[in-house]
Parts: sequence; structure tokens; C-alpha cells
Amino acid sequence: MSQIRQAVTNPVPVVDANNNSKELSNPSEFLKSDKNVNMLKKNSYNQKKYTLSEKCENESDWSVEVSDFAKSTCNPVRKLIEQMKIEPNPNYQMIALSIGDPTVFSEIGKPQSVINAVQACINDKKFDGYTPSYGTEAARQAVAKYYSRPDNLIYKFTDILLTNGCSQAIDLCITVLANRGDNIVIPKPGFSIYKTLAGTLGINVKYYSLLEEFNWEVDLEELESLIDERTKAIIVNNPSNPCGSVYSREHLLDIIDLAERYKLPIIADEVYGDMVFPGNEFYYMSELTQRVPILSCNALSKRFILPGWRFGWIAIHDPKNYLARVRAGFNDLTTRILGPNSLAQAAVVEILEKTPQSYFDGVMQILSINAEIVYERVKKLPGLIPRKPSGAMYMMVGLDLKCFPDIPTDLEFVQMLIREKSVFCLPANIFECPNYIRIVITMKKEKIIEACERIEEFVLAHYKPCEKK
Ligand SMILES: *Cc1c(COP(=O)(O)O)cnc(C)c1O
Repeated sequence: MSQIRQAVTNPVPVVDANNNSKELSNPSEFLKSDKNVNMLKKNSYNQKKYTLSEKCENESDWSVEVSDFAKSTCNPVRKLIEQMKIEPNPNYQMIALSIGDPTVFSEIGKPQSVINAVQACINDKKFDGYTPSYGTEAARQAVAKYYSRPDNLIYKFTDILLTNGCSQAIDLCITVLANRGDNIVIPKPGFSIYKTLAGTLGINVKYYSLLEEFNWEVDLEELESLIDERTKAIIVNNPSNPCGSVYSREHLLDIIDLAERYKLPIIADEVYGDMVFPGNEFYYMSELTQRVPILSCNALSKRFILPGWRFGWIAIHDPKNYLARVRAGFNDLTTRILGPNSLAQAAVVEILEKTPQSYFDGVMQILSINAEIVYERVKKLPGLIPRKPSGAMYMMVGLDLKCFPDIPTDLEFVQMLIREKSVFCLPANIFECPNYIRIVITMKKEKIIEACERIEEFVLAHYKPCEKK
């Protein structure tokens, strides 16, 4: 918590257009438009260009330049949190419902299987060396076995590549499929890292909408209209961050059909795979097709609540062998990373084998109870429209901002809520979904209830019925 608090309260120096350092007095104003975010990024890298001889003559000025790769990289979530300079109300303890880190505030401890597994691997001393760059055979076997289904999905260990978390799995998938100037289609609202990763590489993103009134299903017509000659992949995130939605078998089949018509591989971000509330069913996309290539990205981060371990994988599902060249490309690309942490690779075998189903059931039970509590309480508040999640660990709440005359945007809503009530939610405009906030539902019940109470006080203090802006 102290980290998040620091992140919220520390002033952030920025460099203005004239290379002068100054503190942003009101970052919320500044961050309102994309233009300003981009400008801020450019200016903070503002640098002079020198010829080689000028460089040698000028003794004092090294002027080490920064690459275009760095300049075109922006993670809006991390950026927002770094740049917010809001003093929480000192009368309240901060409650951060912002970052999707299930270890923060969570009442869910590590399963004993995880602790035992990693301790045994450390003591063993056999696992301190380098591993193959795509991972050890034992760990890949374990993942392949865990995600295979007897009827319709058989992974071999050669279908599994181990990575530093799901983010790097997605990074490798984008990098292996697209060139600079190509594009990938990604969801909106959606997790911001797709754009961050593509941006570095000069790969364009096109957003397809998720339809709120249809449980955030993909607008298939729009998705189809976005696809062009330079489209290289469709990213699907199910269950969804930030929506908490879980797609039906039928809907996933519709997406797969579309991908098949345009002969596009699907990058399935399934890091919340199997994380659905009781009464809902989850399908891996790979289970549902024997033709369309699916690159399923997953990790220990969310379901196993080990995000700091940075351990994930890509499971390649390609029954027709359309991806032969891509597999070779993956092999080459993994030589840039030389494999994830060897202890995690060693421990994952036992973690996957020994973590009891009751542990996952317990986690989902807690999350679904929390979701219910937040939903029921927020539903009663005027001007707020919660969307009930079916999985993952988030809830989207719509803001009817015309009923809040002194709050112009979701960002302003979030900042005022910190300032007045020390409750930190994320403004969903960073997920390309303005006029919503995203609430993380992983923390203890008492905290959730207290946060809801404070949100209620805040809303009642600012709500004015039926005012037009
Ligand atoms: C958290 C998250 C990731 C990244 O997972 P890591 O394993 O921590 O890299 C990827 N996709 C989504 C949708 C997430 O919420």
C-alpha cells in the first residue's frame, strides 16, 4: 500500500517544451487529451542533435540520445499513476482499488504447494544455471499437460514457450507476427499493454468495440471492418480486464469464424483463464477450433496470485501446422530473453501438479462475493451504473457525469475521490473507455465495504439530479 500511496502523492517533475524542469501543478488538466500526453512524452525526451565532430569538440556535453523505441513506448496505466499528484485525505487510510495486483490487500494466501515447491528447488541447487531460452523441457511438459484436454486439445511440450509473465508472452506473439507499419486489432475497452508493446515496434493498433449492452461481447461487424491487408493478428482477452466479462462458447466460435475467413491467427490473452465466478463457464479458444491457429498467453500471475514471479507462457495451438515459420521465429526471438527465472521454471512443475482445486474455488468464491457486495451497493447510488462481472477481478462502473456538475471527466472523478475519501480507482479512459471507472475487487471484505461507504458519501456530496451540462 505504501508504494501506491507514494505513487499517488509524490510530485512528478516534468520537462517542458523549453527543456525546463517544472512540477505539474494540475496533471489532471494536462492529461485530459491524448495530445498532451504525447507532447509530454516528446518534450521529456527533447534533445539536440550533434554531428560526430561537434560531439568530439564539445567536451562537457555527452548528449547521449534515447532511441525511437523508447520514445514510442507508453504504458498509460503506469504513467497515470506516476504522474498523479493528489494528496489523499489524511483523515482516511488509503484504499487502492486501482492496480490489478491480487497480492495487495488480498486475504488469499499462497497455497502451501507453492511455498514447498520453491523451497525444494532452492535447496536442490540443481536449478541455478541457465535454461534453454524457451524454457526447460520439464516445465514445458508440465504446462502442456496441465492445459491439454482429453477430447479436443493436446499440447506437446514443444508447443509451449516459457516467458517472463503474460506480458512478455504477448510481446513475443506481436513481435513474431507483425512488422513496422502492420497492424493488430485489439479490444476497447481493453488492457493497455497491447498498445504499449505494439507502439515500441511501430506496429499500429486498431480498436474493435466491446458492447456493454451485450455483456461486453465483441462488435463483430466493426471488427471485420477494421481488418485490412496489413492486419496480422486479432487479440482477444477473455475473461476481460477491465470488463470482467466471460464469453460464451458461441461468441468465441463467432470470433474464430471471422479469424478463419480472413486467415488471421488469434492471440488469446487468457491470463484470467478459468477465473470465472460460480455458475459461469470458461473455454480456452484453443479448445474450440481444429483449424485457426491460437497463441494462448497465460501466466502464474493472476490465477496463481504470483505476479511478481514474472512467469508465463505461450501455448501454440496449430493443428494444421500453419505456423511452422512462426515457430522458428519464436525460437529466434526467445534468444533475446534467454528464458525466464530458473527457480520458477523448476517450481512450476509442482505448482501445477499440487495446487488443489479447492484453492482456486476458494479464490473465485471470495472474488464473486466481493463482486456481489460492490455491485449491490454501487447499484443503489445515483449517477453510478455498475456492470456485473462474471470473472477476472474487476468491475466497470459507468458514470452519468451530467449528474455531477462539478466533475467533468472520469479522471477528475477519480482524483476527487482520492482527495476527499482516499479511495483510488482507475479512470477507464486509460482503457479507451471514458466515463467509467474500474474497481479492483481482490481485497478484504471489510476494506471493500469501507471503500463502498466512502464512495457513497462522495457520490451523495456531488450528485445533482438531472442537470444538463
Ligand atoms: C495482468 C495482465 C497481463 C500481464 O500479466 P503478467 O503475467 O503480469 O505479465 C496481461 N493481460 C491482462 C489482461 C492482464 O490483466
